[in-house]
Amino acid sequence: MIRPVWIEVDLKALEHNFKFIRKIIKNNVKIVATVKQSAYGHGIIPIARKLSRLGVDCFGVASLEEAIFLRDAGFKEPILVLSAVFESYAEYFVKYKVTATVVSLDFARRLDKLAKKIGVVHPVHIYVDTGMGRLGHYYKDSFEFIEKIKNLKNIFLEGIYTHFPVADSDLNFTGSQIKAFNEFINLLKNKAITFKYRHCANSIGMLNYPKAHFNMVRPGLVLYGGMKFKGVGSSVLPILSLKSKVIFIKRFKPGMSASYGRNFVAKKATLIATVSVGYADGYPWSLSNKAKVIIKDAFFPLAGNVCMDHIMVDLGNRRDISVGDDVILIGKSGKLEIMASDLADWAQTIPYEIMSRLSLKIQRDYKPSLLPY
Ligand SMILES: *Cc1c(COP(=O)(O)O)cnc(C)c1O
Repeated sequence: MIRPVWIEVDLKALEHNFKFIRKIIKNNVKIVATVKQSAYGHGIIPIARKLSRLGVDCFGVASLEEAIFLRDAGFKEPILVLSAVFESYAEYFVKYKVTATVVSLDFARRLDKLAKKIGVVHPVHIYVDTGMGRLGHYYKDSFEFIEKIKNLKNIFLEGIYTHFPVADSDLNFTGSQIKAFNEFINLLKNKAITFKYRHCANSIGMLNYPKAHFNMVRPGLVLYGGMKFKGVGSSVLPILSLKSKVIFIKRFKPGMSASYGRNFVAKKATLIATVSVGYADGYPWSLSNKAKVIIKDAFFPLAGNVCMDHIMVDLGNRRDISVGDDVILIGKSGKLEIMASDLADWAQTIPYEIMSRLSLKIQRDYKPSLLPY
């Protein structure tokens, strides 16, 4: 690492968060650790390896590619692809023993045929829409669809699930989704269609609605802790830090400006540090003139626009800061802390976007080390 920008991932804190989840769910409830999009930018292999050692029940990924990537890396846990995949790729689910989300009959039929050919029964999870309005048929219109899949001999209806759009903000809507899901499962049960796993809770759903646990939960954000959770979730820890270093410092005279757009103009003499991080690293341009960073024991504001590979920071009259000093963009130093959710607030986005867009080119250091394998 010559250009000084790096990510530190605290695997002890990940362990803490995982054990916290185990503590708030009942013994019979399984955990699908959502590790989609490179484990929300934390790096999928080390995160999955740690979770595997902690005894995770299943991995949730965004794409078949990620599932195959985990299989090729040697992971033996069940893997559920949390999206729809074109039926022309169905063979890979069978080949790599990956659990498919089923939202179409054609896909299920193709999978059934492929499974039959090699004499296996392949597990699938049916996704029904109770209000997310993304994938899956509306639950009230799903009955026939599910009945037809039930009749496919080489498909095992292992799971049924749904998803919450407003678990964090609308108690009534989320409550009605849980109720609808429950009623639908019972309706199916009355017709002798049952599922080993029934699940609907993402992180906030899991924290706020014990009734939503059923017998499987799908936490993502709570594993990574990119924000402060209220109530039960208040002990969740952030696991990621984004760091860089000061690579240049100069004295600005009043009237001198920093960065593209000249949106920062010094009102008085000040020291401006150039720091080696930019929007190409996933430090959003929309943080321009808004974000703070931590150097040594204090917060310092950005001076002007974020560049592709650089930001400028106003040090005021802090002469004790030098080239080579660490700069914390996300993370903690003593009592000071910047969370992914702080960057999200400043950039007017959500912590999920901040974390998942951290460039995969950035070196990630995992502590404590995962060696020996
Ligand atoms: C991403 C995702 C999750 C995890 O969501 P968090 O809010 O990070 O806990 C769960 N279920 C589905 C279907 C998802 O796409």
